Amino acid sequence: MTEQQPASRLDVRQSHAAILVVDDDQAMCHYCTSALRHLGYHVTATTSSLAALDYLRQQPFDLVLTDIKMPQLSGLDLTRHAREIDPILAIVIMSGQTSLEMLREAVSNGITSYLSKPFEVEELRLTVTQVLHQRTMMRDKLRLETVVHQLRLSSAFNYTLSLPEMCAEILRVVQEEISGRWAYFLLNVDDAAPRLLFGHPDQPPLDTAGWQLLQQTALKQLPSRTRIQLGAELCDGVCLPLSVGGQNIGSVLFNHTQPLTPARAESLTLLMKHAAAALNNARLFTQVQEANSRLQELDRLKSEFIAITSHELRTPLAIVLGYAMLLHDQADPPAREYLRRMLESGHRLNAIIDDMTNLRQVELRQTHLTIEEVDLADLMQECVTNVQSLADGKRQTLNLKYDASALCRVHLDRDKIALVLTSLLSNAIKFTPIGGDVTLQAWCEHVETVPYAHGDQAIALNPGAWAFISVQDTGIGIPPGQQRRIFERFYQVADSLTRENGGTGLGLALVQGLVTVHNGHVWVTSQEGMGSTFTVALPQNVPQSLMS
Ligand code: ADP
Repeated sequence: MTEQQPASRLDVRQSHAAILVVDDDQAMCHYCTSALRHLGYHVTATTSSLAALDYLRQQPFDLVLTDIKMPQLSGLDLTRHAREIDPILAIVIMSGQTSLEMLREAVSNGITSYLSKPFEVEELRLTVTQVLHQRTMMRDKLRLETVVHQLRLSSAFNYTLSLPEMCAEILRVVQEEISGRWAYFLLNVDDAAPRLLFGHPDQPPLDTAGWQLLQQTALKQLPSRTRIQLGAELCDGVCLPLSVGGQNIGSVLFNHTQPLTPARAESLTLLMKHAAAALNNARLFTQVQEANSRLQELDRLKSEFIAITSHELRTPLAIVLGYAMLLHDQADPPAREYLRRMLESGHRLNAIIDDMTNLRQVELRQTHLTIEEVDLADLMQECVTNVQSLADGKRQTLNLKYDASALCRVHLDRDKIALVLTSLLSNAIKFTPIGGDVTLQAWCEHVETVPYAHGDQAIALNPGAWAFISVQDTGIGIPPGQQRRIFERFYQVADSLTRENGGTGLGLALVQGLVTVHNGHVWVTSQEGMGSTFTVALPQNVPQSLMS
């Protein structure tokens, strides 16, 4: 005996089930309706089988409870139509006298169960509970199959990251589902105007109504069905929103020739969830590619600017400096003093042009190194002497720190590394207030493990013998977000209009370039308001291949 189940213990999914009762006998209709409503179901009832068919076309039901013999459309015909609309709809027929022939036909039309009239409420309840349970199981199974199918289909979306190819791929997959020929994608690719992409290159253009539908769907994120004019054809269309994780990325409009059954609509909606994720990846990839090519163009312009400027300025400046020197030697005061200042400025300009030329050579990998064995202490002393007057001008203390007995000899291009250290020292003096401290320090170390831990930095130095030189200051410091960027060409922390200190923003790019051609590394640690430390690591023995 089946265990009886009170209405209050109905499966939650069952209690929300929608049931359509169809019987041309008003009393029977009423009997079933009130019994089922009492049990907690949502019931729609009609005495007309044609009206029942309309209901089925307009709204989803979980179960149809139908009489067999009815005028207009018999229960068996209704069953056949209902099955076409929803293949897993539960259908129970109710009949007084049923011939074997009729039962056989009912079964072949896909009925789920049968109730022989007259029946008790309890009998009705048990049958309904049972067929709804079967339907739930079938729906779960179908869902699982759909998910597997969806996964198979949507895996095709991962083949490409090109937006046009992706749109064509989505259309190809959807064609299998709803036999649509065309797809129109409205995508918010960037902040500028949204882009319209076609699934097929030969698609007809969209008319105003189609375009507005796409925009509305993208805006409201609600699907809609429509009849739409596409070229010479009036087609059935379905417009679906595209969103990823709640972020609206646009909409898509398909035409279709297969009827959009609830199952197909559900499958299409699911498919568009995968498609939206894939389109979003392609969209982001496109954005990154476009930004990248803009950056590359900007980079090319910078290189061109450096090349042209350094080349075009060098000759006229050499002539100006030559004559200024001649005049300076011959002139008497006060003209001699004016010419001295003119020469000073001319030499500063010359230094900038030198930086540009050196940087250009580094970038073109045309830097020739003259490697020699160098005494680090000696080199450091030379660099300190180069900048001593600058530090004196700001009443700063310039310290030189090393343990002579532990200091190694290194193989490097002396002039180029002198340029590196002088540049770092000049920056340290420039960005440290009056009365501050600047310290040049060196040490040698055999690096055993990767990475090399230095303060809060982890640097990927090859194991081996390295010489380290650091320039430490008590200056303004560099914000964390900018510590990498200051090594880019022309990058300066304060913008050119507000900054107090001069400079071109080329110094550190050149420092990095010159250190890199020595197979070395340079990095900075800094705290705003406290000061910065630039550290240069150079291999003690530069490979033979780098020697000219
Ligand atoms: P420049 O000094 O000519 O502006 P650099 O390439 O040498 O160009 O330096 C780039 C930027 O890095 C500087 O403009 C400055 O903002 C920052 N910077 C460099 N060295 C220091 C330092 N020691 N302390 C603080 N900021 C620094």
